[in-house]
Amino acid sequence: MKLDVNALRYLSKDDFRVLTAVEMGMRNHEIVPAELIDRIASLKHGGTYKVLKNCLKHKLVHHDSSKYDGFRLTYLGYDFLAIKTLVNRGVFASVGRQIGVGKESDIFEVATEDGTVLAMKLHRLGRVSFRAVKSKRDYLRHRSSYSWLYLSRLAALKEYAFMKALGEHGFPVPDAVDCNRHCVIMSLVQGYPLVQVRQLQNPDTVFETILGLVVRLAEHGLIHCDFNEFNIMIDDDEKVTMIDFPQMVSVSHRNAEMYFDRDVECIFKFFRKRYNLTFDEKEVENDDSEVELDESCRPLFSDINKASGFLDKELEASGFTRKDQDDMDKFSSRSVGNSFAPVGTGFVEKDEEKDLESDSEEAEDEDDIAPQINDSSLDNFESLSLVREEGDN
Ligand code: ADP
Ligand code: MG
Repeated sequence: MKLDVNALRYLSKDDFRVLTAVEMGMRNHEIVPAELIDRIASLKHGGTYKVLKNCLKHKLVHHDSSKYDGFRLTYLGYDFLAIKTLVNRGVFASVGRQIGVGKESDIFEVATEDGTVLAMKLHRLGRVSFRAVKSKRDYLRHRSSYSWLYLSRLAALKEYAFMKALGEHGFPVPDAVDCNRHCVIMSLVQGYPLVQVRQLQNPDTVFETILGLVVRLAEHGLIHCDFNEFNIMIDDDEKVTMIDFPQMVSVSHRNAEMYFDRDVECIFKFFRKRYNLTFDEKEVENDDSEVELDESCRPLFSDINKASGFLDKELEASGFTRKDQDDMDKFSSRSVGNSFAPVGTGFVEKDEEKDLESDSEEAEDEDDIAPQINDSSLDNFESLSLVREEGDN
């Protein structure tokens, strides 16, 4: 999905106020009535409709007049709210090229004021499912757009919390920098996903390192659940970094052993195919092109000394609670109805909600303007200085 941050520069404070009002209204309206948006935004000088038209032009909201005149946020609108909040916090100042497209995420480079390049992951739950389940699974098709945004927000929060906790326990993961809504900011990993690496100097060492990580995760009470050549990054020194954590589960999960074995099998399969690593001495002749590893190196779930719930405290400290996990679990179970996302649970960031309620436009002051980037090496980055429209205060 294209992310044209240019538009962001031309959006005024009123635009963001109205977008935030739509976000709040979506807690209990699939389509937020225009009057409600007007009431929540309560712009000092009026003009909510004009602002909504502008947001519509930039595809930040979707208009629906089938039942009544109303709007909902698009992913782009949600992107802009998250990006604006993070820029205001000083987390980054410009957005660069797209570096990754996952099934349900987009990854971009962003740069801080001093030119440090970071990675920004925007979660997009529902993007695949909308298409994939079109005819089959009604409960997903009819899930409200609110719950897709809500689930994307939970996925981002979970990813941020796990990355932080794992980093603190010495796991090779990106540094978790910050998170807002469906957006996670982390350090940029040098190197490429394992799947894109043509040749490894020491495939057996990399294999053992990766397998060691799966075991160490389980010892910390966790299973990655998507541990494969797409989610393992390798740099020029063949150092391994693991990424992509929203689907991790605890070793106490009822299907833990199956998930663990699946992660292990993915790694075996990949190295068997790509690097000819062989694991069965009896069947394969030892020849020079093959590194021999005994199948007995396969870790067994039952052999691991697992510390269940080990990271729970750290995860909660980063804001990811058990209830959040329960909500995410409901999403993957088949028995959910369509109004899954609980109404009124912190969908809008607390601080911003206060801003709207107290009508304290002045309180936002100069912070709203992000610094320009002049570093020529960052030519391809779009600075996010928010250019005010004339007459805007
Ligand atoms: P998804 O959940 O959609 O699979 P990932 O987190 O796996 O998303 O990211 C998709 C791709 O984006 C990765 O395969 C990788 O190429 C790139 N990527 C993700 N995070 C980073 C990062 N921190 N640094 C560099 N590249 C990254
Ligand atoms: Mg991935």
